[in-house]
Amino acid sequence: MINIPPQSQNRMPGRESELEPFAEHIRASYKGSGRLAGRCALITGGDSGIGRAVALHFAREGASVAITFLPEEADDGAEAIRAIEAEGARAVAVIGDLREPTFCDNAIEQVVAAFGRLDILVNNAGIQKAADELGEISDADWEWHFGVNVDAMFRMSRAALPHLGEGASIIATTSVNGFVGNKRLVAYSATKGAMMGFTRALSQQLAPRGIRVNEVAPGPIWTAIQPAGFGPVDPQMVADMGKDVPMGRIGQPSEVGPAYVFLASEEASYITGQTIHVNGGMPVNG
Ligand code: NAD
Ligand code: MG
Repeated sequence: MINIPPQSQNRMPGRESELEPFAEHIRASYKGSGRLAGRCALITGGDSGIGRAVALHFAREGASVAITFLPEEADDGAEAIRAIEAEGARAVAVIGDLREPTFCDNAIEQVVAAFGRLDILVNNAGIQKAADELGEISDADWEWHFGVNVDAMFRMSRAALPHLGEGASIIATTSVNGFVGNKRLVAYSATKGAMMGFTRALSQQLAPRGIRVNEVAPGPIWTAIQPAGFGPVDPQMVADMGKDVPMGRIGQPSEVGPAYVFLASEEASYITGQTIHVNGGMPVNG
């Protein structure tokens, strides 16, 4: 079990390199078996945290992997690219702000230009900012949450769709908070609920085309979103994260990545519009 000292990062997104202790993105014991051989994937926010874990699992399963990140995350992005390439996979970095509509279109075009195809889109980038009262949430903060978590998912999916064929997958990273709510994360919880509705509706629209749309809803996972999203408010809360779930601990990104492999692979060929809950044992509806 990891021991996390109180800490905060006074910016969002946070930095992977400043986490204490460092997170684990893929287990040394995880054996790839070519499940995604020949596939090409794009993961938003793949520089760090859960996105980096997904990128490394996809790479170990034989996929070519593109990741997006912000210019200010260049160090984390470079480390993620290095780690993807160390798996023997092709890696592409696409750098920019997902709140800019044109960047979303350009990101898809860059990946298709580099790989010649696109099979898997993971809408993973996200932000959260804690607020004790609804009155503390500014219009700008509300729009920031929806711009990154929801609008970018819509635009990336829309831009990707013309390139996706039968067997392709769209996967969103939602959250346990979209199902149970979190009183200090009202805006964030609202975006994650919206993502679930999008996933379910789009899955029905795309089922006849053989394109599957699913989501992974993590519970507390040790990533920079914790000290950056809660930290400036309460560093001790970061240290205590996960102690209230049935397993009594926070999860590692390495424990979330395999769920994305499953959803993206042929093994999940009859699964669409669904949620995999990776949350340390919290029962939730849906
Ligand atoms: P993270 O900060 O490492 O990753 C989030 C990424 O989002 C960043 O790396 C950044 O590249 C990207 N991003 C943020 N704003 C952006 C913008 N304007 N333009 C482009 N990219 C932007 O943290 P994480 O925990 O790995 O988060 C990944 C996803 O997992 C998020 O959607 C988050 O809501 C979700 N999630 C995390 C947890 C958890 O406990 N860590 C739990 C449930 C869900
Ligand atoms: Mg990051």
